[in-house]
Amino acid sequence: MLMGDSIDEECDYLFKAVLIGDSGVGKSNLLSRFSKDEFRLDSKPTIGVEFAYRNIKVADRIVKAQIWDTAGQERFRAITSSYYRGALGAILVYDISRRQSFENVRNWLRELREFGNLDMVIVLVGNKSDLSQSREVDEEEGKSFAEAEGLCFMETSALENVNVEQVFLVMISKIHDITRQRSL
Ligand code: GDP
Repeated sequence: MLMGDSIDEECDYLFKAVLIGDSGVGKSNLLSRFSKDEFRLDSKPTIGVEFAYRNIKVADRIVKAQIWDTAGQERFRAITSSYYRGALGAILVYDISRRQSFENVRNWLRELREFGNLDMVIVLVGNKSDLSQSREVDEEEGKSFAEAEGLCFMETSALENVNVEQVFLVMISKIHDITRQRSL
């Protein structure tokens, strides 16, 4: 199990978010970067869902983000409903150097909309932006797909730690806004 900050730390509220996308796009590395600032060069797909916690200050609140990772179980249908249940946010990842992982974003989105909360905050992430030599998906393409579907969008490199923090922060602050509006 991946662990970030201590789960016992004081916080104002906790929410769940999920990572999804094809196998090998870099989900676990994005998560370990975010929770421990560490790049795992040889991550192996493990069995079972993994998750990490991290406390973040948004406005004047301490929010505990609990982020779930499929841990190599992407293709197993059995996890779907329990995996998405209660999640307020999703980070949908593709690999900019693998066209097929971008083509599959549509399927992941369909699944998210079927099983997830209606007002779930979704961030589309084009990971491995460091692999510019073997790029198969233009940044503009990712961006316009995200715009058309009403998603946030960012390219990242878990390897070079580019934009990883920002992806999680954008998602968390959007979730915070929605949660606040609901409680007004
Ligand atoms: P997951 O199956 O989606 O969780 O993907 P992993 O996090 O296990 O990563 C799959 C492979 O991609 C591993 O060999 C990682 O080292 C590599 N990887 C992950 N992120 C990056 C990145 O930003 N750039 C590069 N070049 N490789 C990456």
